[in-house]
Amino acid sequence: MKKTNLLYEGKAKKIWETEDQNLLISEFKDSLTAFNGEKKSSEAGKGALNNKISTELFKLLASNGIPTHFVEMIDDNNMLHKRCDVILIEVIVRNIATGSLSKNLGIEDGTVLPFTLVEFDYKNDELGDPKLNDQHALILGLVDYQDELDKLRRMARQINDILKPYFFDKGLKLVDFKLEFGKDMDGNIILIDEISPDNCRFWDIQSGEKMDKDRFRQGLGGLKVAYENVLKRIMEN
Ligand code: 5GP
Repeated sequence: MKKTNLLYEGKAKKIWETEDQNLLISEFKDSLTAFNGEKKSSEAGKGALNNKISTELFKLLASNGIPTHFVEMIDDNNMLHKRCDVILIEVIVRNIATGSLSKNLGIEDGTVLPFTLVEFDYKNDELGDPKLNDQHALILGLVDYQDELDKLRRMARQINDILKPYFFDKGLKLVDFKLEFGKDMDGNIILIDEISPDNCRFWDIQSGEKMDKDRFRQGLGGLKVAYENVLKRIMEN
């Protein structure tokens, strides 16, 4: 499948149209950004690692009944996927308090939450991705019905129920992650975007080491080694 027009360039991916109007190509970039684009860098090979990790995780989720936009990995940096209407809600799933949850609510970093928390952020860089409640989402017209918000929450929990034990078996705690959803041509809500250490937090069970983009956010170094290690664990059966 050939790329035609560049549809959109984001912080971590370029999205291309293809010869098939129902299919798009995501090109995973090596650029790194944090704090809503205030901190920027680049790490050669990061895009390819995220493409490979996302490919494996989309396949895992699909085989467990989660509909996704994934079609195939084309090459190191390019993934073919369905075209969707993007729902402008970032669905955040948290098992352990850290990051903005600890900062905003004063919950001690590392506290295991009594139940899995699912939150919505408005996907809007200009506004800095503010928190949304259901009424905000409906007033903004981000979805048409309350049922759709309930479905996003349900799917997010199902995905957590698949990924959390999967990573536990690989020696990683799935601390939290961000999901994006879209509507396919038939109006079905499906998982889109990527699932990678750019939008998940993984902590090594033995050492507590951070194996995700917090290495960049917090200036810890060793980002590529950590992402390679996550991919290696995924590829080991
Ligand atoms: P926090 O709200 O604590 O910053 O992030 C919670 C989780 O969602 C983390 O795993 C983080 O990587 C992910 N996340 C939240 N917002 C974004 C975003 O705008 N971009 C990316 N890549 N990940 C995000």
